[in-house]
Amino acid sequence: MKEITLIPGDGIGTEVTAAVQKVLTAANQSIAWEIVNGGEGAYQATGQYIPDALLDSISTNKIAFKGPITTPIGKGFKSINVTLRQKYNTFANVRPVKSMEGIKTPFNNVDLVIIRENSEDLYCGIEHLVTEGVAESIKVITEKASLRIGEYAFQYAKKHGRNKVTSVHKANIMKISDGLFLDCIRRVAKKYPEIEYEEVIVDNMCMQLVMYPEKYDVLVLPNLYGDIVSDLAAGLVGGLGLVPGANIGEDIAIFEAVHGSAPQIAGKNEANPTACILSAAMMLDYINERSAADLIREAVAYVIREGKHTTKDIGGNATTEEMTEAICSYIRTVS
Ligand code: NAD
Repeated sequence: MKEITLIPGDGIGTEVTAAVQKVLTAANQSIAWEIVNGGEGAYQATGQYIPDALLDSISTNKIAFKGPITTPIGKGFKSINVTLRQKYNTFANVRPVKSMEGIKTPFNNVDLVIIRENSEDLYCGIEHLVTEGVAESIKVITEKASLRIGEYAFQYAKKHGRNKVTSVHKANIMKISDGLFLDCIRRVAKKYPEIEYEEVIVDNMCMQLVMYPEKYDVLVLPNLYGDIVSDLAAGLVGGLGLVPGANIGEDIAIFEAVHGSAPQIAGKNEANPTACILSAAMMLDYINERSAADLIREAVAYVIREGKHTTKDIGGNATTEEMTEAICSYIRTVS
């Protein structure tokens, strides 16, 4: 039986990770979940925001499924998400964004994958007050991490039969830092002449995406632009409740939805479980359970297309549990 660390997280985290557990059971995946939490709840119970038990569990199991964790704004502890990504060097954040039949949006032809560099940039957390009223934050871009994410993006494109990689940057202004990022991706691109390569400045990219999203295939971005553009892209296909994600490292991977803990709807049985369920399908791909992963994606697509058991955020009136049960029921019927 595969052991996987489960971090329920905050806000809607417990509701959407419970949905994942139910769906994987329906898909006959016998997983021994090792449940350990991090964040505020963990701090109250153990005195640690990231308890040793959580770190030990991820180090041993090498695979974790994570619910969203609340990070206080402008004060308090350092983001646990960022800390875990840095500690386990999960350098590539992979976020596939695809239009789904049954969801009304201005576009029905979005099919792109965001590959976000996950270990450095402004997320290094090196910031301080220079003097009262003057704050400084350091943006770190290294050749090593930029070449590594470039390689990952092109390898991903090759493996998944994708034709184009677009690097997104602001090297016209940050000539040295983003300039280094861009230079590294260009060097990698030369090794893959069969894959089209282009570069777009991040502000223009935002405009292009909300007008012509069909033009894009694989996007590779430094950490901060990757974070922002992912949410924008989620909006193109119906919102944050739908978009899955994976943090991939050399030998450790942490799977989680793009969305956060959505405190406004926490505890109301209203959260859309799709993003987490599709993240779990990515996790099954990762452990070579391809057919179960495909079945889960088929079940989600069916329930959304049918539109009878969908949550409020995508125009339905089902609860989280009802939508999850509809997905499980399809899986049980088909398998
Ligand atoms: P959020 O993603 O929690 O919510 C943004 C909007 O999307 C809200 O309107 C919310 O209701 C909606 N939404 C998100 N997920 C949904 C779902 N599954 N179903 C239906 N609607 C959904 O972003 P935020 O409000 O900026 O952040 C809230 C907290 O989450 C913050 O503390 C932030 O730091 C944290 N956060 C954590 C992660 C993570 O753990 N990976 C990611 C992003 C934000």
